[in-house]
Amino acid sequence: MAFSFLSAELQQLEADGLLRRRRTVESPQGAHLVVDGRDFLSFCSNDYLGLANHPALVAALQQGAAQFGVGAGASHLVSGHTAAHHQLETQLAEFVGLPRALLFSTGYMANLGIVAALVGRDDEIFADKLNHASLNDAALLSRAKLTRYPHGDLAALAQRLAASRARRKLVVVDAVFSMDGDIAPVPELLALCERFDAWLLLDDAHGFGVLGADGRGVLEHFALRSPRIIYMATLGKAAGVAGAFAAGEAALVEMLIQRARTYIYTTAMPPPLALALSASLRLIAAEGWRRARLAELIAVLRRRLQPRRWRLLASATAIQPLIIGGNAETLAVSEALRERGIWVPAIRPPTVPKGQARLRISLSAAHQAADVEQLAAALNEIEA
Ligand code: PMP
Repeated sequence: MAFSFLSAELQQLEADGLLRRRRTVESPQGAHLVVDGRDFLSFCSNDYLGLANHPALVAALQQGAAQFGVGAGASHLVSGHTAAHHQLETQLAEFVGLPRALLFSTGYMANLGIVAALVGRDDEIFADKLNHASLNDAALLSRAKLTRYPHGDLAALAQRLAASRARRKLVVVDAVFSMDGDIAPVPELLALCERFDAWLLLDDAHGFGVLGADGRGVLEHFALRSPRIIYMATLGKAAGVAGAFAAGEAALVEMLIQRARTYIYTTAMPPPLALALSASLRLIAAEGWRRARLAELIAVLRRRLQPRRWRLLASATAIQPLIIGGNAETLAVSEALRERGIWVPAIRPPTVPKGQARLRISLSAAHQAADVEQLAAALNEIEA
């Protein structure tokens, strides 16, 4: 068999508790999901504001399909850039308070495109150890030197920046860490970038829509603005749809249009999605109660969940990680919850460091306080 060595590798993954399995969901996103005909109270999704199945977004998508059809037909630089995309870019720039924005089809592609467009062989990237995989892959693709520093360690970063002889320096960081839920110290990072003449790429995948009084993201949260900042956020999480955007100085965005290969050489996102996203932006700004509900649910979870051996990380965001430790034990806890009709994903290496397997509890404005109380009670009982 040509691929028999793969079977052996797969068996090893299974033996190590590292084999990943997909579940097929039969319902829209929401507090409850249906899998194999069975209803689960779910804490899995990044649909933090409960917009992924909102009637206004569904209607905008349907109307968009009636107006523009489904497919964009070509890349943005050929004939795929429709009025729907153009309008959304203008709205996104205005929403985050930056001069110009550029749409990408996914966050993964945005990160690859932005980083590889801005730095190359003579340059150096400084990356937090817990950054998302797409930022690490972006660094590899760019061929710049990749220097990773311990999570949140500003002194280590300063030391590495001071030692660098690179032509251009780019600090890249998750604004909210996707598996830990903590918020990056952006003002301090920006101060270091100013001191060492570096750029700062902020990946606000988990902050956009959620952080800041109006959900404008991490820049609103810290009341920050700087021409050194390259802002990036995804649109498939709190915004409830799909895609991503980069935003910043006009010249930066113009250069991304010229150089970002994941922008240039790919079909534009379906235009109806852009219209659904415009509807989403309106709801994000108008419905502050969704962020207030989320804050309340985070407080309920942290009050009710009382781990002894396990450890709830100090997170103020919708991502509430419960560190269990071993892969097998983490899977067993996830399975025990499943038996009680609750679905929380077990996150294992290499997504998180070895020995730090965890349940990644993600909360959404779609949940009720009683849902979160049910989860906390089940976990307290399983650990007991
Ligand atoms: N950056 C971060 C921090 C993420 O968590 C993710 C998605 N998990 C991405 C980028 C990729 O975004 P997308 O899902 O739109 O490709």
